[in-house]
Amino acid sequence: MKNSLELFERSKKVSPGGVHSPVRSFASVGGTPVFFEKAEGVKLWDVANKEYIDFCLSFGPLLYGHRHPDIAKVVRETTELAWTFGATEPYSLYLAEFITKKIPWVEKIRFVNSGTEAVMSALRVARAATGRNKILKFDGCYHGHLDALLVKAGSGLAGESSSDSAGIGTEQIANTLVIPLDDEEALENLFEKEGRNIAVVAIEPLPANYGLLIQRKEFIQKVASLAKKYGCLLLLDEVISGFRIGFKGMAGELDVEPDLVCYGKILGAGFPVGAYAGKAKFMDLVAPQGPVYQAGTLSANPFGMRAGLAMLEKASNENPYPKLEESTNYFTSKMIELLNKYATKIPDKEGKVKSDYLWEAVSYGSLFWFKEKTEQSVRKVSNIPLGHKERFAKVFHALLSQGVYLAPSGYEVGFLSTEHNTQILNEALNRAEEGLKQI
Ligand SMILES: *Cc1c(COP(=O)(O)O)cnc(C)c1O
Repeated sequence: MKNSLELFERSKKVSPGGVHSPVRSFASVGGTPVFFEKAEGVKLWDVANKEYIDFCLSFGPLLYGHRHPDIAKVVRETTELAWTFGATEPYSLYLAEFITKKIPWVEKIRFVNSGTEAVMSALRVARAATGRNKILKFDGCYHGHLDALLVKAGSGLAGESSSDSAGIGTEQIANTLVIPLDDEEALENLFEKEGRNIAVVAIEPLPANYGLLIQRKEFIQKVASLAKKYGCLLLLDEVISGFRIGFKGMAGELDVEPDLVCYGKILGAGFPVGAYAGKAKFMDLVAPQGPVYQAGTLSANPFGMRAGLAMLEKASNENPYPKLEESTNYFTSKMIELLNKYATKIPDKEGKVKSDYLWEAVSYGSLFWFKEKTEQSVRKVSNIPLGHKERFAKVFHALLSQGVYLAPSGYEVGFLSTEHNTQILNEALNRAEEGLKQI
């Protein structure tokens, strides 16, 4: 029989770290990554045929769970139509029309193959539109692995940057400014100094890649108003939040109209699709209409376009969002009861047990994150409690052992799909309790 350990050892010989995206290696939680072979609905099966209930959902794309019959039907039809044309076809048109009708600030949209590609292209448009070079981003927001945004705030002066990765030329990040989230003063100071040089302000309106750092509405609105005042474009990165919390995404929730917006994850229903979009006057700068070059051999591939449209039409007809939120609240509140019963004595990195910590869930729509309970809401990286990583790793493995799969990092959020019904959630909670008892 196949087993994950053996496959991982083999993978390490032929791929860096044995994986094709770092977090999959379990580096953050320790242990051997599980090699999955099959999925359906909320269930995953690994290569040894052990079953798991999935709360990672490929990091978000699977709003209707794995291989939902209604979407699977469209995918099967697509196998009989065409796999790729590299030419014009109607499927991307239908998806583009559908989205532009639904979202007022999406006047035009260009499909690409990933969230990274979408953000990279949107920055290019913003620089062309403004004739400026600098980019402002926020510490704790992830925008994919493009050079210019693999940057965090340097430990020294606010606004100075150092890269998050080796191999990035200093010139690639020299124009990237970074400030903390949730800090109006830093924001105002930065705009005063640099506002007229900034092409674009990029932000995750619901930061969900460093835990779930829900921002105050006033803060995001301040970002938007300062961008406007200084003539910078506002880029809302909704790769994770787009279509997960409703059709208008977080922009709709916050009453903020972006100039440019990026989508990914859910948009392709599990196939590789991203998009950048926005006001026509900016998007018309893109080739062949305008001077900003951007292209893709497999862009707008029929699988992603047709599956994405099938899923979004389904969501538009059914409005699954209120129920998703309700299920998420049910699951997280029960999980917190269990965590507080069984998981409050997990030592930190130094092996110390903090005597009085409790857990709480941060959630928004169908996204959730478990963390130590804090007096004040955690809205920026520096406020994430110490020991979080170690505590999460213990909980992760306790759940994994019983067949509950969370994203393998304490800094990733969890997701529910429409297929996580009460019966499934109760089953997951029972399994979780079995695992947590053994901590
Ligand atoms: C996932 C993500 C990206 C990157 O998308 P990829 O498809 O992984 O390249 C960018 N921005 C946000 C907010 C994301 O969550």
